[in-house]
Amino acid sequence: MTRSCGCLVREPRVDLSGQRFGRLLVLSRLIDVADGSLNARFECLCDCGTMAVVRSYDLVSHAARSCGCLRKETTRDRASTHGLSHLPEYHIWMDMRARCGRQTNKAYANYGGRGIRVSPEWNESFECFLRDVGRRPGPEYSLDRIDVNGNYSPGNVRWATKQTQANNTRANRRLTAFGRTKTLSEWARQYSIPVAALGYRINRRGMSLEAALVLLSSECDTAR
Ligand SMILES: [Zn+2]
Repeated sequence: MTRSCGCLVREPRVDLSGQRFGRLLVLSRLIDVADGSLNARFECLCDCGTMAVVRSYDLVSHAARSCGCLRKETTRDRASTHGLSHLPEYHIWMDMRARCGRQTNKAYANYGGRGIRVSPEWNESFECFLRDVGRRPGPEYSLDRIDVNGNYSPGNVRWATKQTQANNTRANRRLTAFGRTKTLSEWARQYSIPVAALGYRINRRGMSLEAALVLLSSECDTAR
């Protein structure tokens, strides 16, 4: 297999992959061919499920400790009055409303942009949402829509593990690379890449599956 046209830069500097900085888990180093290695950036997965590209300096200096959700939460907590904003479900509720309702949200295209809505009473009231959905059984669970084209509304939402959710949703679409066809989840498992990261590279960064799997393309380091 030819791995690159010759542009593949072997990275001599410190690799932070696998390290954790606050909520950020560093997945891989992005190689910027044009810029050499002076401006190292890393692809990170935040605990809230959002992908972020962070400069190494910001990681090492602890300036960046989340995708930005931590600051938002802190600000919101101060303003919040119902006293439940410390619950993890509150963060999940905020994220759900943001990806369906806020066009600037990174995931909007796959939710609000596809017509996925939050039921009005859930949208207005966290207490209502919590009453209907219940507490999350554990940190490995996330919010899952039973009908993936349906809304976030009573009866269509459950807590599911990432594996269940991955199998249930668009991760089930079949993709071809290196002459083989598998689901996104299967590709992610085989290459030990979080399925969220793989989906992000393909859907948000516009990488080919093959490039996303081996993360060699110089296009992977487009500016943010
Ligand atoms: Zn986050």
